[in-house]
Amino acid sequence: MKGYKLAKTPITVTYGDGIGPEIMEATMKILNAAGAELDIETIEVGEKVYLSGYNTGIKPESWDSLRRTKVFLKAPITTPQGGGLRSLNVTARKMFGLYANVRPCFSYHPFIKTKHPFIDVVVIRENEEDLYAGIEYRQTRQVTTALKLISRPGTEKIVRYAFDFARSNGRKKVSCFIKDNIMKITDGLFHKVFDEIGAEYPEIEKDTWIVDIGAARLATVPESFDVIVLENLYGDILSDVIAQMAGSVGMGGSSNIGDEFAMFEAIHGSAPKLAGTNTANPSGLLLGAVMMLVHIGQTDVAAKVHNAWLKTIEDGIHTYDLKDDVQGKEPLGTKEFADAVIDRLGELPNTLKAADYTSLPEQKTEKYKEIKHNPERKDLVGVDIFLDWSNGSPDDLGNMLDRIKADNLVLQSISNRGVTVYPKGSRNITCSDQWVCRYKNTEIGMFVTHNNILDLLGKIRESGFDFIKIENLYNFDGVEGYSK
Ligand code: NAD
Repeated sequence: MKGYKLAKTPITVTYGDGIGPEIMEATMKILNAAGAELDIETIEVGEKVYLSGYNTGIKPESWDSLRRTKVFLKAPITTPQGGGLRSLNVTARKMFGLYANVRPCFSYHPFIKTKHPFIDVVVIRENEEDLYAGIEYRQTRQVTTALKLISRPGTEKIVRYAFDFARSNGRKKVSCFIKDNIMKITDGLFHKVFDEIGAEYPEIEKDTWIVDIGAARLATVPESFDVIVLENLYGDILSDVIAQMAGSVGMGGSSNIGDEFAMFEAIHGSAPKLAGTNTANPSGLLLGAVMMLVHIGQTDVAAKVHNAWLKTIEDGIHTYDLKDDVQGKEPLGTKEFADAVIDRLGELPNTLKAADYTSLPEQKTEKYKEIKHNPERKDLVGVDIFLDWSNGSPDDLGNMLDRIKADNLVLQSISNRGVTVYPKGSRNITCSDQWVCRYKNTEIGMFVTHNNILDLLGKIRESGFDFIKIENLYNFDGVEGYSK
C-alpha cells in the first residue's frame, strides 16, 4: 500500500463555494474513473474562512499543504463583499510567483452553437506586473495615478513561457499584443523582448499587433490566431472576451503557472444562485484538471479524460447552461453529465480534434534565467519634478520657476495632464493641479548629479512650492529612458 501511494502525485484540492463542491465532486469522480494517480490533500478556503476572520480566505496551515504539493486544483470561491478582504487568487499569485495565466479557448462547432465556429486560441497573460502591481497614488486633490510596471525579467519569463508552450503543444504561431505606438518604453520593452526571445524559436511563426486593432481582428477573425501573449491588463480583458465568444462561461479551464507551483481552475466564479441545484456545468473545472494532469506528467490520463469529454459533447450531451446552444437532447444534471463522460472513457471524438498530449515534447519547467546583456551605461541627465499647485496660469508658474537658479539644471518645459503648457504650449487644455516640471542638464554631454537635484529641490521648496514626487531622467547608452 505504501509503495502504491508513492507512485501517486500529491495535489491540494479545495471544493470551494456555491457550485464549487458539485463541480469538484463531478471532476474528481471522472479523474478517479480515468485512473489518475493522485494523492489528494483537501483544504478549506473561501467564504467560510473569510467569515471566520481570515482576510485572505485561507488559513495559515493550508499554505503548508500547498507548499508541500505545489499543485492546487481549485473550485471557484465566493469572496464576500467588504473592506479589508483580499482575493485568494491574488494572494496565491503573489505568494507563489504565478507569473503565467494560461487560458485555452475553443469553440465546439457544430455541436455547440456559436457565432465563431473556428476558435482555437490559447491566451497567455502575464500575471504579476503591469497596472496589477497595484501601485497607486493620490498625488493632489485632483489627480490620481497608477504605475504601469513592465520589467525585463517579468517579460522574459512570460514570453519564453508562451514560446515553450507553443512548442510543447504543437502550436504554430505566437502573437504579441502591445500598444507601443503610445507606450514606447513599457510596451516597447515587451515588444523588444518578444522579438529577442522569438528569434530562439525559428520554427514558430510570430506577429505583433497594436492591441486595439489586434482585439478587433480577434473579435472578427479569431481563427487567424493561435497562441497570444499579452501584458496583464490587456490579457485580463481579452481572455474574457475570447472565452465568451467561444461559448458558455462554464466551459473554460485555466492554469496559473509559477517556477515551482501551479494552480488550476475553471474561469468562471461560484455562481451562488445555482448552488445545490445539480445544474452547473462541471466542464470548466474538468478542463482545468486536464491541464493539471498534463502539468504533472499524467499525459495519457489527461488525453483519456479530454477525449471522453469531447465525445460527450459530440453526442449532444450537455448541462442546462447550454440548453439553447445544443439541439436534440434534454440537458442533464451535473452528476449525470459526469457519468456520461465516465461512460465514454477510452473513446475518441469523431469530428472534433482529439487531444494528444503524449507525442509532444514535455514543456520545460526550468527556473528563470536572465538573458545576459552587457550592462548599459546609465547617465543622469535631468529630473521631472511634480508639483501640486493651483495658483495661476502655466505662464505664471513658468515665470516663477524660471527665477529659481540651480547649478547644472535648467527648466526645459512644464506639462499638465501629459501636454506641454510652457514655455510654448497648448493654450486650450484644461489644467489640473498637478504640474510636471522638466529640468535638464544645462549643456548636452554634461551630467547631472544627485546633489544638483537636491539643491534644486531645496530651492523649489524655499520658494513655497509643494513638490509631490520626482522622477529622475536617465540615458541608457545615450538613449533617452523617458518619454518626451
Ligand atoms: P460567475 O462566473 O459565478 O457567474 C456568472 C454567470 O455564469 C451566472 O449567470 C452563472 O449562473 C453562470 N455560470 C457560471 N459558471 C457556471 C457553470 N459552471 N455552469 C453553469 N452556469 C454557470 O460570476 P459572478 O456571478 O460574477 O460571481 C459569483 C461569485 O464568484 C463572486 O463571489 C465572485 O467573487 C466569485 N468568483 C470567483 C472566481 C474564482 O474563484 N476564480 C472567479 C470569478 C468570480
